[in-house]
Amino acid sequence: MDKTELLNALADEIRVCPLCRLAETRTHAVPGDGEESAQIMFVGEGPGQQEDETGHPFVGKSGKLLMSELQKIGINRREVFITNIVKCRPPGNRTPLADEIAACNDWLSAQIALVEPKFIVPVGGPSLQTLVSKNLRITRDRSHVFRRDGILFIPILHPAAALRSPDTMKLFQEDIANLKKFLSREIGESEITDIAEVAPISKPAPDEDGGTLSLF
Ligand code: SF4
Repeated sequence: MDKTELLNALADEIRVCPLCRLAETRTHAVPGDGEESAQIMFVGEGPGQQEDETGHPFVGKSGKLLMSELQKIGINRREVFITNIVKCRPPGNRTPLADEIAACNDWLSAQIALVEPKFIVPVGGPSLQTLVSKNLRITRDRSHVFRRDGILFIPILHPAAALRSPDTMKLFQEDIANLKKFLSREIGESEITDIAEVAPISKPAPDEDGGTLSLF
């Protein structure tokens, strides 16, 4: 099978995945889609209502905001791969629980292994903490470059947060502008933080005692 066939086969498996409780409440699983050899992969938190209804990623209000901001910096949806850390909608758009994220992780890892992106853009806190390190916080670590397993991660605020506050909208647009700068030039070694170098935070991450990861 070629890469497209493998990604399609993976998506077919995700659509019938029974591995966590979100399978019981979903309308459609949303595997994600995009360019099979994309240089950039965007990874959000999870499908919202419209994504659940259609089976397609980032088609709701916040997804449209992200896509329109990316269009402004010359990134077309067709040239990136877009997915989420959980493929099924958490009821009421709640934050995915730690065990749901863990159950879904193999699907995301398989997508990353197949697409082999140079850059991954974690969209929002849960994605950043899942993909890079639980010690990171999106409000502190947004628009920084992290490296893990040879992939560069450039986290941005979640567009849903931007839609709730004009101040956060400005920060979100700043993240998109910074993303453009990083993608349009060579990133120096001094700008990259290898995740082993990230200082631990003093308080435990919220999910460590079975709670949920925070959006920020
Ligand atoms: S969220 Fe992921 S692990 Fe849970 S049922 Fe959906 S595809 Fe399976």
